[in-house]
Amino acid sequence: MTYRILTGHISQETNSFNRIPTTLKHFRALGLLLGDEIPPALCGTRTTLGAMFEAAEKFGWMLSHPLVAKATPGGAVTKEAFAQLCAWFLAGAAGCDGALFELHGAMVAEGYEDAEGEILARLRTLLGPDAPIVVTLDLHANVTEKMAANASALIAVRTYPHIDYYERAWQGAELLDRALRREIHPKTVIAKRPMLGGLDGGRTQVGPMRELIDRGEALEAFGKALVVSVCAGFSLSDVHDAGPSVTVTVDGDTAEARRIAEQFMDYAWETREFVSSPWMGASIAEAVERAKSGESSADKPLVIADNSDNPGGGAYGDATNFLRAMIAADLQNAAFHAIFDPAAVQAGIAIGVGNKGRILLGGKYAPEMGGGPLEVQGQIVSITDGHFRCFGPSFLGGGAWNTFGLSMLVRIGGIDVVVTSNNGQAVDLAQLTSLGVDPFHCTTIALKSSHHFRAAFEPIAREVIMVDGGAMLSASMRPAYHHVRRPIWPLDEVIP
Ligand SMILES: [Zn+2]
Repeated sequence: MTYRILTGHISQETNSFNRIPTTLKHFRALGLLLGDEIPPALCGTRTTLGAMFEAAEKFGWMLSHPLVAKATPGGAVTKEAFAQLCAWFLAGAAGCDGALFELHGAMVAEGYEDAEGEILARLRTLLGPDAPIVVTLDLHANVTEKMAANASALIAVRTYPHIDYYERAWQGAELLDRALRREIHPKTVIAKRPMLGGLDGGRTQVGPMRELIDRGEALEAFGKALVVSVCAGFSLSDVHDAGPSVTVTVDGDTAEARRIAEQFMDYAWETREFVSSPWMGASIAEAVERAKSGESSADKPLVIADNSDNPGGGAYGDATNFLRAMIAADLQNAAFHAIFDPAAVQAGIAIGVGNKGRILLGGKYAPEMGGGPLEVQGQIVSITDGHFRCFGPSFLGGGAWNTFGLSMLVRIGGIDVVVTSNNGQAVDLAQLTSLGVDPFHCTTIALKSSHHFRAAFEPIAREVIMVDGGAMLSASMRPAYHHVRRPIWPLDEVIP
């Protein structure tokens, strides 16, 4: 028989401390796709959907693909946007025998603290208790009991930077095929601890994440579990269930799965203080000094990443502190990605390519933190529609097109500054090359990212340093939590 399978993608990571609600406009900005728009955009790419189109061919499935909707991390998704996303996606569930799709796992919607749990519960009601529902997740998912109870299997990516969505989707497809044929009956259990952070923020190179992912893969290889997923959680979602989790999927009896999940979380608890390298390294002054002193002898770029204004963590992306210091130091042959400021792009369009003029850059959303607006005299080097095709290893990559909206490159002294109309972090070299910057031959590249940038930029760098630019995610900020369960480490003293 031919099985009908629901697939798709809904993702947004919610930073509860970002004041800008996420609306459908933000999903549309990154290229929201409906129905027949999806196959030409994603067939042949190394994404969840790319894998699903190939898997459907292999297993003879008929796919229902109603929706692909991604938004840059930011404030909670509005009630209206969440209702519309659910309506689009769940309309595709009619007549389906099973599902395999991608969620982030740390999305918060107005009225639904556990947005993904709500989507899964509604889908479970539509498909019935026996239909296999398999979901791929970001490893920064705040996984809940409701998600584990309503999904048959949760498969989180195992890399940070996240570069294995395609492989995880294929793992899910093999499992879905077996479940559809009733060879297995996957069930998923979850364990957590009173932890908001830990697991080294999800970094998978060394440390507790690496250890638990390796242990989980060994259990899968020996047939002790169908799937073991380790999630570091996203601590800036102020929700009851924020924090790390382990989910274990087994065939049938879940007693052993519970034992494994608890044992893994014991290890996560014991290693909670482990940090492989500082998230915020140098001060602004130190970082600029390093850049200036290395200019004359550089054969490769020094890559400086400002974690404090990382749009990938829900920051506003328009902080100017670090750029201001770069301009003051008169850095040469440098690139800066990016200032999110649609009005500045419009001002650049009015000035015109090749012309010089004064522009007010960024600093609009939280001027008290990121440095406020920066008035510059610059030359407009290029203006594009903001599209860039990513062939790099990042989660945007695999040959997929992305857009940050109307974008421009403005040259301020010796610094080429990217200004975008949609907010987003720097993860692919195409974000520079598409505007005319050659990252291989820059002396200094400043980015806003905490870790994802490493997949593409570390291989071309002479050195990578982190800087605390003083913006929303700065080490000096102390977010006021209201909804997370208490007591919880590290906000409270916790006796396990
Ligand atoms: Zn993530």
